[in-house]
Amino acid sequence: MELFNGVMEETLEMLSGFPHKKWDYDESLCWEDLNESELVLAKDQAFELGGGGKQGLNVTCVTTSPLPVDRDEILLYGQDLDAIKEDSDYARLSFLRIASPGEEDEAAYKAVRDIEFVKYHVFPRGFMIRINSEDCREQVRVSRRAVKAGISFKAAGFDFIKKYRQKPLVKNVKITFIAGPGFDYRALEKQAKTAAGITNALTHIMEGLDLSCSSCALKPVCDEVEGMRELHFRQK
Ligand code: SF4
Repeated sequence: MELFNGVMEETLEMLSGFPHKKWDYDESLCWEDLNESELVLAKDQAFELGGGGKQGLNVTCVTTSPLPVDRDEILLYGQDLDAIKEDSDYARLSFLRIASPGEEDEAAYKAVRDIEFVKYHVFPRGFMIRINSEDCREQVRVSRRAVKAGISFKAAGFDFIKKYRQKPLVKNVKITFIAGPGFDYRALEKQAKTAAGITNALTHIMEGLDLSCSSCALKPVCDEVEGMRELHFRQK
């Protein structure tokens, strides 16, 4: 499963040269997870990441190769949660390395879908995540109480790693947060849409839909991503 490697490499290239912080995963430092969704009311919020007309993005990529993801870690570009005072631009990149699910394309596809759904089951206390997978948007309402209690991207990100690591195929998880001004969110959005397009194309292919590239809405993705077309031909 190398279909997402181009997105991962280009995204990491875009961020290279920017100062950042990083932390190796430590399960004991995970922020409390509520195991169910929490409603943070507007009156209780400190700010929204991706709220108030700001950019809010989610990129999820899966690979079996070790290079882009060789350890469990959090990276932060920009401001941490204690420094943010108002609605802010934001992106979360989740890059996952998985064990090879086998020779079967369908097994690989199922693994990707299964891992995709994890993002809907992460509930850090005071960090209310809303995801719209149609347009790759992610918005997070952070409560004043959580900020006061010391929530950070490191602690909330560790919670994501913990949830992803519960999937048997997942070997390593790299979560990258980007927050605040100074980053090219438009370029990141393009990468997010390509990653989502790959997942959509996989669904299309595995559902056995027609192999008719000239009239297929996913043609731009298959033109760009090496291996997509071969996958569909193999399925047929
Ligand atoms: S290979 Fe062709 S038909 Fe299949 S998803 Fe890609 S563009 Fe569509």
